[in-house]
Amino acid sequence: MAGLCMGKKVERIEVEGFSCEVRYGVTSRVRQRLTVLDHFWRDFIDQKPLKEAINFILNLKGFEDYVRESVKEFVAYPDDRILIIRSVGDPEKDVIFQRRWKIAKYIGWFPHITFLNLEESEISAYVNKEISDIEKRKELLGKIGEKVSSYSMTPITVEPIMSSPSKNSLLLKAGEINILLDCGFDEEKAKEMIKETINIGDIDLVLVSHAHLDHIYALKFLFDEGCQAPIIATPMSVDLAILGSGFKDYSIFEPFFRYFVPAFYDEKIQIGGTKKEEEKEGEGEGTPLEITALKAGHIPGSAMFLLNLNGFKVLYTGDYYLLDHFPVDGSLQTINRIKEERKEIDVLILDASFAHKSTAPKDEIKKALLEEAERIIKRKGNVLIGADSLGLSLDLITTFFDHYPDPSKSPPIYAEPIVFECMKCVKSRLLSISKGFQEKILDEPDPFSSPLVRELKTTDNLINAITSPSIIISEPNNFSNLPIMTFLFYLGTDEKNLIVLTGMQKKEPGTLIEQGKTEKITVKYTPLALKKLKMKKEKKKKESRKGEGAEEEELEITTIDIKAQIFNLKHSDKITNLHPDKDQVINTIKTINPRKTIFFHNSYENLEKIKTEMEPIIKDPILIAKTKTQIALKE
Ligand SMILES: [Zn+2]
Ligand SMILES: [Zn+2]
Repeated sequence: MAGLCMGKKVERIEVEGFSCEVRYGVTSRVRQRLTVLDHFWRDFIDQKPLKEAINFILNLKGFEDYVRESVKEFVAYPDDRILIIRSVGDPEKDVIFQRRWKIAKYIGWFPHITFLNLEESEISAYVNKEISDIEKRKELLGKIGEKVSSYSMTPITVEPIMSSPSKNSLLLKAGEINILLDCGFDEEKAKEMIKETINIGDIDLVLVSHAHLDHIYALKFLFDEGCQAPIIATPMSVDLAILGSGFKDYSIFEPFFRYFVPAFYDEKIQIGGTKKEEEKEGEGEGTPLEITALKAGHIPGSAMFLLNLNGFKVLYTGDYYLLDHFPVDGSLQTINRIKEERKEIDVLILDASFAHKSTAPKDEIKKALLEEAERIIKRKGNVLIGADSLGLSLDLITTFFDHYPDPSKSPPIYAEPIVFECMKCVKSRLLSISKGFQEKILDEPDPFSSPLVRELKTTDNLINAITSPSIIISEPNNFSNLPIMTFLFYLGTDEKNLIVLTGMQKKEPGTLIEQGKTEKITVKYTPLALKKLKMKKEKKKKESRKGEGAEEEELEITTIDIKAQIFNLKHSDKITNLHPDKDQVINTIKTINPRKTIFFHNSYENLEKIKTEMEPIIKDPILIAKTKTQIALKE
């Protein structure tokens, strides 16, 4: 069967019961194509007929059964002499992967194996099951719908319950309607503050911009305290909220399943009855309250919310980022579209968590990082990068993936298991909605199905990562807790190693490291030898079927002196980050051109500084979200 697919001629053949798609034309992996062709041409290796090549792989001596079980299908690029093998095997043990260059010599095709997990993420599947009744979910909006239809929605005010680098929650009031924009706080003091600001039972709607804990942490608290408001978020935010919080027991996220109203990018959620004729403000049909989730470009599933309150438009950015980064599209298009469609925004509530800095262009940041990493590895050191697993880790791994098209020429790269799980959620969501993405992700092996990156899952991997030159991407980015503290304990005291901080550093050790302070810092870590022992014990326990309930993680607390080199001190303008820097913030405000801008998500002192610096550039007023200070938006 011949056809055209993405502009290339495609046909399908069958070999020993396996399907093989043959694509004529070139693959988009340019660097790999050149390496492969160079190899074949240099050694005058003949290209065997495709069927013969596939047969050779399926019948690798001594591994016939293993290969047949793990291989799912083939995709062949005859012009590039690349044979993609989609497998569900284990990259560490895979015989095709280990012998790929030898096999290439025999068959004249380069066997590019991708360890694609075609199965859906367990978490996404669970969330889908719980939210499948979308109509029922929309009924949840009935109560607030009645309210917006029968009350005036003025005056409009916003009152930050918490606005800091690590806590976010703003209360938007429109007349009688109380809308909570995120709910990220965990301290007792913060909990008291929300109670002082509002009777929790009076919250009508909760908008969750994305899955980071500094935006969702108090969900359970709110709903335990009697909140019954619908929660609007994207399904991927729910997946990642469950994943990111590390809770094995999904019931902790029960509020999501009882009150969740899924939001999809660019689709309006209409609340309340149709507006009366005289209330329509040149926008045709409409409801008193309309909420649209827009791509925020920060992490998978992250959303900005555009609220249309009877014609008064508020854009809450949540955390956002303008530029594309794998596997997330940036928000630049969204922002430009707001300008093109002349959606006049009255108030822009804007993420200013990184707006006090100007950062170098992305390519320069990547170049500096790769150069420093290679220098360290050459001198037998280790590179320890602190990065958020739901966002920046994906971007960093992609950087290394692009830089090392041949995994055998790369230093070992390790990442936390949660990063791989996160990719599974992303794949599940994207595969189900976008055919284009399906083509892309199946045709081009993504970094997470490549053997390049190893999971920090087994104790052996953990010990290897520490004892031999490697790049370790661990979390959290601010070095405040496990698991990264274990790596910091073992690697932080040696000057041949390199520490790379990403994103915003809060009060934790990250700030001290960033400032190059060499005084002793306190580290909580898991002693690895102990962990190994514990695992053995647990295995025994399981065997005797007595193992009930996980024990508390055994920690050791000690102080260490940081001697490792600090990337951020050498390159203070090259910090990898997924929040808009000063220039991106200015660009955003100028493009959207709101009547008023409110900065949130940074320390009050920093916000003041940013305001003073930007006011001459931005003509319209800039306001600052100060905890427990009400800002009037509309009389
Ligand atoms: Zn975030
Ligand atoms: Zn945040």
